[in-house]
Amino acid sequence: MPKLFGTFGVRGIANKDLTPEIAFELGISLATYLGNRGKVAVGHDNRTSSEMLENACISGLLSGGCDVIRLGTVPTPVLSFAVKFFDCSAGVIITASHNPPEWNGIKFWKEDGGSFPHSEELEIERMIQQKSWKMAEWQKVGRTRRVDALSPYLENLLERIPQLDRKLKIVVDCANATGSLITPRMLRQLGCEVVSLNCQMDPTFPGRLPEPTPENLADLCSMVRSTGADVGVAQDGDADRAVVVDEQGRVLMGDRTFALVTQHYLKGREHPRIVTTVATSSVMDEVARKLGGEIIRTRVGEPEIVTEIRQNGGDIGGEENGGTIFVDWTLARDGIMTIGQFVSLLSSSGLKVTELDSMLPKFHQRKAKVKCPNEFKEEVLRRLKEKFSGYKLNTIDGIRVDFADGSWLLIRPSGTEPIYRCFSEAKDPSRADELVNWGLQVLQEIKGELGLP
Ligand code: MG
Repeated sequence: MPKLFGTFGVRGIANKDLTPEIAFELGISLATYLGNRGKVAVGHDNRTSSEMLENACISGLLSGGCDVIRLGTVPTPVLSFAVKFFDCSAGVIITASHNPPEWNGIKFWKEDGGSFPHSEELEIERMIQQKSWKMAEWQKVGRTRRVDALSPYLENLLERIPQLDRKLKIVVDCANATGSLITPRMLRQLGCEVVSLNCQMDPTFPGRLPEPTPENLADLCSMVRSTGADVGVAQDGDADRAVVVDEQGRVLMGDRTFALVTQHYLKGREHPRIVTTVATSSVMDEVARKLGGEIIRTRVGEPEIVTEIRQNGGDIGGEENGGTIFVDWTLARDGIMTIGQFVSLLSSSGLKVTELDSMLPKFHQRKAKVKCPNEFKEEVLRRLKEKFSGYKLNTIDGIRVDFADGSWLLIRPSGTEPIYRCFSEAKDPSRADELVNWGLQVLQEIKGELGLP
């Protein structure tokens, strides 16, 4: 049986890889894992297959003796909030986040509102393989209740964003996905003038693909320019990530948004603990230093950041792809809160987005990838460590080589695809090129040694 759980829950093409049968088995296994009791919040995105999978998964949970609160169509951060707000034992979100419309996914959440750690996902996977789940006796079958989670979410979120000092004009692009339900509403309640783009939910995602890459955000960028807006914001398919576009219509890299939001959110906090991954820009080290705080680097992926925060605490967590975790708010990435905090910063600073960005040190980044069959990844890693053994190495995820001039090179195997990724960062653009090319060259060398094409 193929491995069910990937780096972020179960993902696949609906009715092909991800069927109602699997959704049922995931539901009943989660119920069994919870001891065949308790209350589970279930929400889903607006994809054509989401209700189908929701109903199958809920059947499994009810059959396993759990009660279910149905949240209906909600962004992922609302599910995370609702798990705690409604005192649930766990949560389930049905979404494929940034994947194309034919995809879907199922992801589990713990009672603290953070995602399941991989070790616990594997326990569920084992239960599914062995079909060792347990159905409840007829008197103990669960029941469902429908609740509105959007209103309490928005109400609580607005309490955490100070009233804006000046009126901002903002173009918001929700990808015709679930952010449409709440982000324009939040911005209007904050007093912004909102120009909406792709903010009507449509499961075919006709406006653009749900991944907020610069290529997919061309319409947003030109609309920011043509409307003379102060800022543009975009979300992915389940609104746990946010991307900012400056007033000149240029996309800001995710780690720069993370840096700006971190400075704003943690201002005045003593020795804040910032948790991020080995792939995030050194701009975060600068921010941590300015705040008098500490930066902790984990392996790549939200579950890794959440696990570190659960074990050792933290004030904020984030990744280079535009997902920020505000720990005293929810233990999950929240693209809606990220936009709220960014708008609050923009308004209170009195500056333009380009001015805010230019206050951060400038770094140049390069990203490349090389094909590598999954079964060779470990051996490649072993040889990488050997080849770079004379350098300052961080080996928690692939290898990261840090150089005295502050530049670095990260070479890591992808968790989902048969490739190795190669990132570099430097203050000088030619140094960034040099490093990424060096990484690619060493990877090719190792592939040659192993006889790989
Ligand atoms: Mg997402």
